[in-house]
Amino acid sequence: MEDRFGHRISYLRVSITDRCNERCSYCMPRELQEWLPREEILNYEETLRLIRIAAELGVSKVRITGGEPLTRRDVVDLIRGIAAIPGIRDLGVSTNGTLLPKFAPQLRDAGVRSVNISLDSLDRQTYAQITGRDFLPQALAGIDAAVATGFEQVKLNCVLMRGRNEDQLIPLVDFAAERDLTLRFIELMPVTTTDVLSDDNFMSILHARRRIESHFGPLIPEPTFRTNGPATYYRVPARNQRIGFIGAMTNLHFCEDCNKLRLTCDGKLRPCLGSYLEFDILQPLRNGATDDELKQFFLDVVERKPAQHDFRENYQPGRKMIAIGG
Ligand code: SAM
Repeated sequence: MEDRFGHRISYLRVSITDRCNERCSYCMPRELQEWLPREEILNYEETLRLIRIAAELGVSKVRITGGEPLTRRDVVDLIRGIAAIPGIRDLGVSTNGTLLPKFAPQLRDAGVRSVNISLDSLDRQTYAQITGRDFLPQALAGIDAAVATGFEQVKLNCVLMRGRNEDQLIPLVDFAAERDLTLRFIELMPVTTTDVLSDDNFMSILHARRRIESHFGPLIPEPTFRTNGPATYYRVPARNQRIGFIGAMTNLHFCEDCNKLRLTCDGKLRPCLGSYLEFDILQPLRNGATDDELKQFFLDVVERKPAQHDFRENYQPGRKMIAIGG
């Protein structure tokens, strides 16, 4: 699949639930805490069918996200099913890590290659403030479990928030170095209206980089190193450590190499995380659409993929990151 701007779409991010065992305010604002009704959520058979169709259209990488995907019942069965779809060569999970002590080996055995774990703070109180839950020990145990399980790739993701986790940048860099993990810092995205998204809380990747450089010295750019996403990578001097920066809001080239499409847990195809555009594929699916009709649906959505995101202009009151899948 290719859009009007030459983006080749090979990566599908699939949110399988809007439910989560944490309550990160930037993802799930306090005033919007009811879950979607179960019948509005794609069941596993529907999810697998849509991923198979996407794979037939050239998608080779799938990342399972949410909500917290590991809270969904029988998630390992779904993962096994996705790994068995011809053409899917890379399967990842994004998680807050708290349930990895239970699931890590099962996920690897089911076919997961890479795990991205959210970690915004190493300070227990700050972690609890940001996530709404006192689960830092569980998240750290989850990171240990992921490392011990031996996934091909384990990455840590930290959302930058001025005044909330600014003092955590250096400890997080050290923590990642000690475990030989790739750490990425992500700019806060205004995916829904909530108090934490005010400009006072925003910390640019440039600000974060300067702070890290004031401690470690100038970071060494690694312009040729890329994973399958929009991060730009740097090496920490005198260390064999790579850290990434995801400048969703300030990097003007952020969308240039976008290869993604998103499937929300309630069956909407989204051509871009940072645009209000989304198209309901659940209804045609449940109304008996053929594979060819669903393929055409995918192609029509890709045709509407915008040149770049529109976070600043298009807030989406009522559309939570937790349902879209970050
Ligand atoms: N529960 C899983 C987790 O914690 O990774 C998967 C879902 S979560 C929505 C995926 C990622 O999106 C997390 O790294 C989270 O920090 C990030 N995220 C959520 N809301 C965000 C926002 N408003 N801006 C930037 N990143 C956000």
